[in-house]
Parts: sequence; structure tokens; C-alpha cells
Amino acid sequence: VPVIRIRNLSKTYFRGGQAINVLSDVNLEIAHAEFLSLMGPSGSGKSTLLNLVAGIDKPSGGEIEIGGINIARLNEAQLADWRASNVGFIFQFYNLMPVLTAFENVELPLLLTNLSRSQRKAHVQAALEMVKLTDRMDHYPNELSGGQQQRVAIARALVTDPTLIVADEPTGDLDRHTAEEVLDLLDQLQRDLGKTIIMVTHDPKAAARAGRMVHLEKGVLVDEDAKVMPADHL
Ligand code: ADP
Ligand code: ADP
Repeated sequence: VPVIRIRNLSKTYFRGGQAINVLSDVNLEIAHAEFLSLMGPSGSGKSTLLNLVAGIDKPSGGEIEIGGINIARLNEAQLADWRASNVGFIFQFYNLMPVLTAFENVELPLLLTNLSRSQRKAHVQAALEMVKLTDRMDHYPNELSGGQQQRVAIARALVTDPTLIVADEPTGDLDRHTAEEVLDLLDQLQRDLGKTIIMVTHDPKAAARAGRMVHLEKGVLVDEDAKVMPADHL
């Protein structure tokens, strides 16, 4: 059973009285615990599609059914609640708060929950263990390498135990070796924790690490390669 069903999805922006169709009639199904990479030229609509699936943005038309909920029909407040408990975000430039330590950055999404301080601490430590950074938890972002900062960001994405992780160019700012370490972690989240992962990337080597690649061209899904997708997942 697919966890995500995208049907007839469209997104139009209006600029200077002109309509710009960024996504047109996108149809896509993503299975539970699938690791999907989304490729395509700059401006093809990858980030827009990712933001729609993550509930950051609202579609102009179509449906995005996730775990039985059509998030396209939720209002802003419902969408914010849904996002907080269902989606973890990973960005190209990590988006860590510079004035907070690694521990405090990872704890941030939990401050919105009603977990106690000691419960939060246990969750943060488990997430930092997963990314092997417990020894750096009192460091500030500028005291960490790029790879370490991205691992803190991955721990922050994980700490609320979301079913879906979205990553926008997560290795775009990292050297090859560090990029592979981050991709190993994403792989582990999918295999060991059963997370569904959608990753936007320009890098064919990074994309190839996913179980399935889809391509966008000018807002249209053109090509789907189900190379490692076992039939029993569909
Ligand atoms: P990609 O991630 O593939 O580079 P994007 O999804 O960021 O592509 O952008 C696709 C197109 O949508 C681009 O032409 C971009 O200029 C346009 N676009 C994105 N966001 C907005 C916005 N908020 N307002 C107007 N146009 C936008
Ligand atoms: P990596 O092992 O991820 O490639 P680096 O070789 O860049 O990391 O960094 C080695 C160590 O130096 C890291 O453990 C990190 O704590 C520390 N470090 C990296 N960058 C900085 C910095 N800007 N300020 C202080 N310490 C840093």
C-alpha cells in the first residue's frame, strides 16, 4: 500500500499578472519506507514538489494523500500540526540555529510537544547517537564541520520520529566523502527505522543511492526508473 499518493498535482504562481505553471498534472505513488530521489534541471519544480509533499506550500490543484489524509485540503493550522508530527526536514545549508548547541538544535522541534525535560533529553540523545555525535552535543554549529552540521540536522529531523523525511540537496554543500557519509545515514534511516525519504538532488551519484529515481522536466514527471523497487512494495 503506497503511503503517499499524488494525483493530478499542479502548482501555478502568479507574477506580474502572469500565470506560471511550475507543476502540471504530476502523478506519483511512493511506498512506505521507500527512498526516492527527485532529479531534474534547475527550475524544473523539484523544490516546489518537495515543499508540497512536506506541507510547506499548498497546491493549486490535485491531491496529496499521505497516510490516508489529503493534506491539500487541510487549512494552515491543521497543516502546521500535521507537519510538526509527520515530517522531518533536511536542507542544503543545514539551517541550524547558530546561537544554540548541537543538543539544543536537535531539541528544538520537541519544545512544541508536551514531553517533559527528561523525556526530551532521552529523545535528543537517541537521535544524536543515531548520527554518532553524542561527543559533540555541546558544540555550536560553527565549531563543527559541514558533515557534522548536516548530521546534527539529520538528528533534528529524526527526533520527533516522523514517518516522512524530506531532504533538499542534502549533500549539495559537502565534499564527496562527507556526502557519502550523509547518504549512508539516509540509507540507514530508511532500512533500520523504516522512514520514507524523498531527496531532491542535482548529483547523479547521490540520486543513485536511492531505491528509485524520478525526473522532473519543466514541471512534468517525465521518466520513472523503478530499478530497485521490489514488486511487493507496490
Ligand atoms: P527546482 O527546485 O527544480 O530548481 P523550483 O521548484 O525551485 O525548481 O522552482 C520552479 C519554478 O518555480 C522556477 O521557475 C521558480 O522561479 C518558480 N518559483 C518557485 N517559487 C516561486 C514563488 N514563490 N513565486 C514565484 N515563482 C516561484
Ligand atoms: P570531518 O571529520 O567531518 O571531515 P573536519 O576534518 O572538517 O571534519 O574537522 C575535524 C574536527 O575539527 C571536527 O571534529 C570538528 O569538531 C573540528 N572543526 C571543524 N571545523 C571547525 C571550526 N570551524 N571550528 C572549530 N572546530 C572545527
